[in-house]
Amino acid sequence: MIEKYTEIIGEDELDGIIKIAERLKDFSILHVNSTRAGGGVAEILNRMVPLMRELGLNVDWKVIRGENDFFKVTKSFHNSLQNGVGNLPDNAFETYNKWQEINANELPLDYDIIMIHDPQPLGLINFKKKGKWIWRCHIDISNPYQPVWNFLKEKIEKYNAMIVSTPIFARDDVEIPQFIIPPSIDPLSIKNIKLPDITVKRVLYKYGIDLKKPLLVQISRFDYAKDPVGVIKAYKLAKKHIPNLQLAYVGSPATDDPEGQEVYDKTVKEAEGDKDIHLLMLPPYSDLEINAFQTGASVVMQKSLKEGFGLTVSEAMWKKKVVIGGRTGGIPLQIIHGITGFLVDNIDGAAHYIIHSLKNPDLVEKIGENAREHVRNNFLITRHMREYMSVMLYVTG
Ligand code: UDP
Repeated sequence: MIEKYTEIIGEDELDGIIKIAERLKDFSILHVNSTRAGGGVAEILNRMVPLMRELGLNVDWKVIRGENDFFKVTKSFHNSLQNGVGNLPDNAFETYNKWQEINANELPLDYDIIMIHDPQPLGLINFKKKGKWIWRCHIDISNPYQPVWNFLKEKIEKYNAMIVSTPIFARDDVEIPQFIIPPSIDPLSIKNIKLPDITVKRVLYKYGIDLKKPLLVQISRFDYAKDPVGVIKAYKLAKKHIPNLQLAYVGSPATDDPEGQEVYDKTVKEAEGDKDIHLLMLPPYSDLEINAFQTGASVVMQKSLKEGFGLTVSEAMWKKKVVIGGRTGGIPLQIIHGITGFLVDNIDGAAHYIIHSLKNPDLVEKIGENAREHVRNNFLITRHMREYMSVMLYVTG
């Protein structure tokens, strides 16, 4: 399986990865996050853990558990870190600490290298038994709500290193070594391989899409940060110029996101009365369907207001799509405005570039080519694994 990547990245790059992996063979490695499915972190770990094992590494992946009280707190942390505004449940810090202790008692933490993903399991460090610990932050921490940041920072500083996705998330006020490693997509996953035309058409048809009309697609959890209502508003503006335009907003639930239903309900309300809007809640692991929607899209949207990276952007770019993305977080790493896609700051901008793209098929083709090459050179899982392994080697000295 791993040798198949040579077709995409070449022999030399793969040789380098194999050499680094050999140096880590004697270490036990653990990844910890807060959900097995739903969202980018689970997406990456689902692909990376088996690949690292294939490289000969001794890697495990554990997921912390919690009840609604815990995930309400972690979602409020997540929002307050990304928006700079605090709206925490009562006793948030106590609830957070309580669940760290419960999980620390249940999880085996005696590994040589532990990579903790995001703030949800960050506090496990207080129960460290041995090994080197790396905090992998996938979200925007450039303008955090200070009380939450201070609470977490005291824990972060107990780590041996931290990793953020883009230079703008690096922190001046943290003393430990920081690495900048953008996430990645797996070009060989069902979500990203080239699908036969007929498969794409069958999936779209099954979900009620008219194959003869232009299709705007956003794939995202129902989360305020992904701005589903803004997507619908931009679609409505564009539809005034492109009357047969359709929109598919495809989402799925994540077990660590208690706000999903509320956002979904608001989105349904905004979409009411327009039968060209398809709001779909797919079960987890609908990779073939997601691939089909991205492949079948005329234009892809990722109108995030806040975004750690936005794997969906690279996923669509790999399929040679023009992506219209919010100018935030990790999206500008992927979208070079006018070259590999379009960056927008508001609903009007999004509508403008939907129309512009649909009216200029040659431009769409050129940008699509550039987009795929940009992803090949920068955002594939092979590069991502190599960089993680380098940090692991660094912390183990
Ligand atoms: N995703 C999915 N089904 C959905 C919505 C999203 O499989 O209904 C996937 C999407 O294809 C991507 C990941 O979940 O691989 C989302 O990662 P991203 O970085 O875009 O956003 P996050 O959810 O982590 O904020």
